[in-house]
Amino acid sequence: MFKEVLETSQPIVYQTLKNALESEHLSHCYLFVGDKGTHKLETSFLLAQSLICENRTAFACEKCNSCRRMKENNYVDLIYIDEDDKNIKVELIENLQHRFEKTALEKAGKKIFIINNCERLTIKAANSLLKFIEEPAGNTTGIFITTQVDGVLPTIVSRSQTLNFKPLNKDDFFNYALEKNIDPLSAHLISNLISREVDIIPLSKNRSFNKAIEIFCQFIQRYFDNRTESYFYLQNSIAANKRNQRDIIRFFLDISLLFIQDYLNGFESEDKTYSDLLTLAKNNDFNYSQVMKAFIDSRTSLNKAANGLLLIDQLIYKLLEV
Ligand SMILES: [Zn+2]
Repeated sequence: MFKEVLETSQPIVYQTLKNALESEHLSHCYLFVGDKGTHKLETSFLLAQSLICENRTAFACEKCNSCRRMKENNYVDLIYIDEDDKNIKVELIENLQHRFEKTALEKAGKKIFIINNCERLTIKAANSLLKFIEEPAGNTTGIFITTQVDGVLPTIVSRSQTLNFKPLNKDDFFNYALEKNIDPLSAHLISNLISREVDIIPLSKNRSFNKAIEIFCQFIQRYFDNRTESYFYLQNSIAANKRNQRDIIRFFLDISLLFIQDYLNGFESEDKTYSDLLTLAKNNDFNYSQVMKAFIDSRTSLNKAANGLLLIDQLIYKLLEV
């Protein structure tokens, strides 16, 4: 259920809305502000569901017929507007106006609108919208969503209760990845390599990324056993993957650097393979600062390097000198 996700990822927003729903002291107008991937849109639908759900406790049950239709944007008294790349036109708002002048059609008797990217509203459109919010007998709730509060018209900001969604952190990404059935090792690596939640699933399915994990694990295992053999392995496995070679190298370098960082931080992994590799590093002598430097240099040169294989050769050369 999304409400459980919200409770862990946005505890302040969760508690604020829960209190308002329990005490029935809801604002007529909300402004959700936060980065992409912070669950603003899902929260707006959860709030909309919570206004009309018959089985709600504080939040909606998220399962009943009304909840389902709301989530699918199939609820007659919900108007959802999302104009991603252009100004929200006044005609759209006039259409909304036209529908909201009539009484609510569903039996809950509540009218709700959600406007995503509300910084794109024109003054005229915003003013005609706010009219509904100010009607004394109105049974209308408005939810405005934005990533950039500076771009939102002051008339909207001043009439709305603003809820700030905190930026996601690595723990949130990690937990989200586990929820999506991504294995603990990939979840750990991904959550450290990306900055937006929307990138988690695509990266978990990225072939170059998965190839790089495989090469990395094999390489480290060999590195602490037989260095010379590990270098041969690295050269050969990179050479064998001609397709997306540069991506594989980039992921390999990023994962290796993260591994050294985890080693230094005494990170404990839930993943058996990764945890064994960290133990190997702990039990073996290696000049981690020089190794790290070699990896950082290669990572920095990657963008301008003409040949990926040559870059790997240079990395190995530096590692030999350590
Ligand atoms: Zn429900």
